[in-house]
Amino acid sequence: MTRRRSSYRSLASLQRDLRACRACVEAGFPLESWPVRNERFDQRAYMYGQAPGLVEGEERRPWRGRAGRTLRRWLEMDEDEFYAAFYCASVTRCYPGRAPSGRGDRTPAPREQELCAFWSEWELRILRPRLIVPVGGLAIQRLLGMKGLVSCIGRRFELDGATVVPLPHPSGASSWLNLPANRELTAAAAKLVRTELRRLDGG
Ligand code: SF4
Repeated sequence: MTRRRSSYRSLASLQRDLRACRACVEAGFPLESWPVRNERFDQRAYMYGQAPGLVEGEERRPWRGRAGRTLRRWLEMDEDEFYAAFYCASVTRCYPGRAPSGRGDRTPAPREQELCAFWSEWELRILRPRLIVPVGGLAIQRLLGMKGLVSCIGRRFELDGATVVPLPHPSGASSWLNLPANRELTAAAAKLVRTELRRLDGG
């Protein structure tokens, strides 16, 4: 049974409830994993993806599959650096399964996104990250209300005192990255993320 408190004071207590969340299943959605978790809570930045993939759902850890490896390559980070820098969240936290079309994974329904926003809202309130990196169109739209990657990749935004640097999704499911101009925008955005991380370090 899903438990949601009226307030949370620490990420540890939030994660205890989040890891047992079945809100979408109770609402009738066909999820194929339990929620992905963070194992540490001392990160400086907040990464906000779309939803876990199959590998992440099985391991219950974020960014474990091929997309995670691509993301770390863009950011020039190894695994230890990546997980030390980013508290990893996403629009929804459970593997949604394959899309009915058979092409890629199912996009979480608006109701699932709303049910899961409860966790992100509390995480942001507790963590108060100074850098937020939304990854992919859905996460960017939910966080910044912007549609279309060209208008925001390679740019920096401000949101409630945090710097926001959007990245495209590295899954390869989208053809957006096939255009050389878009790959240049992505490289510029990754460089911005690295610059902002150095700034958080005081470098
Ligand atoms: S996607 Fe989010 S709200 Fe839905 S069951 Fe998983 S953790 Fe809970």
